[in-house]
Parts: sequence; C-alpha cells; structure tokens
Amino acid sequence: MTLAQHRTLVIEADTQINAEVSLADFTTYRVGGPAQWLVTPTSTEQLQSSVAWATREGLPITVLGAGSNLLISDEGLPGLVIVTRHLRDQHFDETSGRITVAAGKPIPRLCWQLAKQGWAGFEWAVGVPGTVGGVVVMNAGAHGGSVSDSLVEALVLHPDGHLQTLGREELGYGYRSSCLQGTQLVVLQAVFQLTPGRSPAEVHARTESHLNHRLETQPYELPSCGSVFRNPLPQTSGALIEQSGLKGFQIGGAQVAEKHANFIVNRGGATATDIYHLIGHVQQTVKSLWGIQLRPEVKILGKFDPQF
Ligand SMILES: Cc1cc2nc3c(=O)[nH]c(=O)nc-3n(C[C@H](O)[C@H](O)[C@H](O)COP(=O)(O)OP(=O)(O)OC[C@H]3O[C@@H](n4cnc5c(N)ncnc54)[C@H](O)[C@@H]3O)c2cc1C
Repeated sequence: MTLAQHRTLVIEADTQINAEVSLADFTTYRVGGPAQWLVTPTSTEQLQSSVAWATREGLPITVLGAGSNLLISDEGLPGLVIVTRHLRDQHFDETSGRITVAAGKPIPRLCWQLAKQGWAGFEWAVGVPGTVGGVVVMNAGAHGGSVSDSLVEALVLHPDGHLQTLGREELGYGYRSSCLQGTQLVVLQAVFQLTPGRSPAEVHARTESHLNHRLETQPYELPSCGSVFRNPLPQTSGALIEQSGLKGFQIGGAQVAEKHANFIVNRGGATATDIYHLIGHVQQTVKSLWGIQLRPEVKILGKFDPQF
C-alpha cells in the first residue's frame, strides 16, 4: 500500500496520523479545506515522532495552535498539520516567579489560573483566544502588553529532530512578529517571568476588566481571526477602514464587522475565498482613498486565486 492509500497511520509512540481532515473545525473562522495529513499529539514524544515522520516523507509541516490567527484556503493544506491543543503541561515556580507552559495551553485559561493564584503580568492577554505556541510566534499583544515583555525563553524543535532553547533576544521580536514566523520550527514550551504573591482579587479584577472591555468593543460573538490588518502606526487600520465607509460591507458570508472595522467576521456560510476577496477589497479601497497599503496580521495559508 502506498502512503496516499492510507486513511490512518499509526507511527512511533502510538501516534495516530489521519488523512484528509477538514481544518474548518481547527480555526476560529470556521473555514478551511482539508489537511493532507493531521495529527493532534498528546505528548512531546508523539509530537517528535510526527515531525520525524514528516521529515522522512519529505512533507512540509504546518503547526496550528487554536487557529485564531489563520485564514486557510478552501483547498486545504499539503503535508502534515500538527495541532498542539492537547499539549498543556505547566509548572509554576513560586520562588523565581517563572511559569513553564506547553505550547497547546489556551491563553484565556492560563490568565484565569494566574489570577486565581495572584500572579500578575498576564492580565492583558485574557481576550487573546490563542495558545502559548501561537502567542510566542505572533508576539501577541493587547492593552499595552505583549508576549515579549515577559517571555524568558522558548523550547523549539527543528525538522531534523534537534531541540533548541531560544532566549527572548534570539526571537527577533517586533510588532506582532518574531523570527519564528515562516519557519518549520515547532514551539514545544515557553517560560515567562511573572510576579507572584499579589492579591488574587486585584489580579482577577484587572483580568476581568480587560475581558469586559473586549466584549464591549469587539465582535466576539461571531467567528473571526481578531484584527485582520496590522496597524500602520501611528494610524490604526480600524479607523482607516471605518473612514473608508466599509463597515458592514459583505462578500458572500464574510463581512467587515459593524462593531470593529478591523475585524472581518463569518456571518455564516462564509468560505475562505469570500474572506480573502474581502481582505483584497478592503486593501484596494484604503489604498485608493488614503494611499496606505494595509498589511495582513492574519496568516494566510494555502492557495488562493492570485488575481485578488
Ligand atoms: C476574537 C479574537 C481576538 C483576538 N485578539 C487579539 C489581540 O488582542 N492581540 C493579538 O495579538 N492577537 C489577537 N488575536 C489573534 C490571535 O489570537 C493571536 O495571533 C494568537 O497569538 C494566535 O494564537 P494561536 O494559538 O491561535 O495560533 P494559530 O492561529 O494557530 O497560528 C498562528 C501562527 O503561529 C504558528 N504556530 C502556532 N502554534 C505554533 C507552535 N507551537 N509552534 C510553531 N508555530 C506555531 C502557526 O503556524 C501560525 O503561523 C485575536 C483573535 C481572535 C479570534
């Protein structure tokens, strides 16, 4: 039997790899075609075996955290897609104030846990629906805070199987960017420096106030990827798009959100192509009115019609 004829493979460390799995269930946009192969490892060993298998087979690797910053094409993705959502180990060191967290840990859950224990420093992140791996790669930020403020180091796996610890300086952090983007490196875990020993009630109150502010100002009730475009500082993409009269503009099931113009939401039944075309339309409109080229913050993966 050739590789292409398998529906499911079981490789080392009892790791199950499935063929042709829809990625719509793995992105917050709820769109995206199938992965050629998909694995959701439940241990570091399984993740390592998966990467070794893909390297042996000459397949490209794509890592998905919560899929909250991704637009995946309706055609899907070739190669192996690794979903980290089951990798959630964590260790809190009260003496140093450092936490070591595995790549798949959901950020909102981590923030509430930190609040409960009176650890300050991550309150800003509660509205970011990503995972530890995703925020480390994206240098996610909000409310004046960002990952690079507290990240100490990240443990990464190379496609050839070797592990490397990269310190903050080596990660090349900038506004929503790191040198991990566009590489085949897999973040396994990260260490953050936080401040333990604070009043849990105070940390909880700050966390809650950040979340409430988000719920009031952003369309959390509909599928989206958060902010679609980077801000062309000192201007904001949201203001430029709103001033271009695009709020509510719709292509297929994709709409520029009424609540926040830098969000494109899936109103139901949107395809990745609808969203992609709407991104192009917003870019063209803003460019023609203001002479500013908006650059996507969302990672666009797979094949799309190049004319848009
Ligand atoms: C409602 C909403 C609100 C949002 N608000 C914010 C906000 O305030 N601030 C902000 O910065 N972002 C925000 N986002 C965007 C998103 O949550 C962040 O970009 C987040 O960092 C993505 O994490 P993720 O785990 O979902 O990554 P994914 O979307 O799954 O992946 C993002 C990128 O990281 C890579 N990646 C993910 N995990 C790994 C890993 N373990 N190893 C190697 N590469 C990996 C992927 O290949 C991809 O290139 C928002 C999104 C939504 C839907």
